[in-house]
Amino acid sequence: MKSCSVSNLGWWEDNVWKWGLIDNIPVHDQLVGVELEELCRILEDVVPTYAGMDKIVWIGGEMNAFTVREYYKKLLLEGRAKGLQPVVRDAIKVLWKGWMPSKVKIFGWRLLMDRLATREQLMKRNIITNTDLSLCVFGCDSAENSLHLFLNCAFLAGVWKKIMEWLGIDAPLRTDCCDHFLQVMNALRNYCSPRRVAGIWMATCWCIWKQRNDIIFNNVVGDVDEIVHNVKMFTWWWLALGSKQRVLCNFYEWFHNPLVCV
Ligand SMILES: [Zn+2]
Repeated sequence: MKSCSVSNLGWWEDNVWKWGLIDNIPVHDQLVGVELEELCRILEDVVPTYAGMDKIVWIGGEMNAFTVREYYKKLLLEGRAKGLQPVVRDAIKVLWKGWMPSKVKIFGWRLLMDRLATREQLMKRNIITNTDLSLCVFGCDSAENSLHLFLNCAFLAGVWKKIMEWLGIDAPLRTDCCDHFLQVMNALRNYCSPRRVAGIWMATCWCIWKQRNDIIFNNVVGDVDEIVHNVKMFTWWWLALGSKQRVLCNFYEWFHNPLVCV
């Protein structure tokens, strides 16, 4: 969006500013689904002035410059204002303390809040209109929503099975993403810090989402073993790069038994 100026995104009509976001955002910056809806909501009360040059200003917090910390605070406040269910609030609380990069936390926040631009969401907002394009890209006949993609997809069930075997726990019931996230944390509470378990759970969803995007945009073929391998690899990097202390095991040990390393 940095390539746009405000004057390109609307027009004045009888001294009233009209936003024309969909037609005027350049194709390579196009927003879809919930992102576009959220932008429209944010801009509802924003009225530009005739005079003055465009400039980029962060209005999400007390600081004038964007920081991830300020963005976390903004998202937390937004969550409180919406009166989140306790299970969602608890899951998000663990997520922010989690052991993963900021971009994965933002992805996780959108997942736990059910705000990812899944195909079902895009269909609801008429971004896609062909029913076939709303189906799961892993070859199911089910609609692609967060619950299906991250927990109930028959093709991806093998991912969770292998990750749970890796962690040495029984698979929790897959009723809801927030509940599943907290159940896995609970199952490992005596062996591993919730920060690290949160990282592993979120890495699993992150790798599923990345492969889903690769199937859509790069024509790759769905591969359960590749997702599981990527989960182990990403979490090892996060462990090695994020640890202030010496890492207690090598990748081979992590790959075969993560609980001795955390
Ligand atoms: Zn599926």
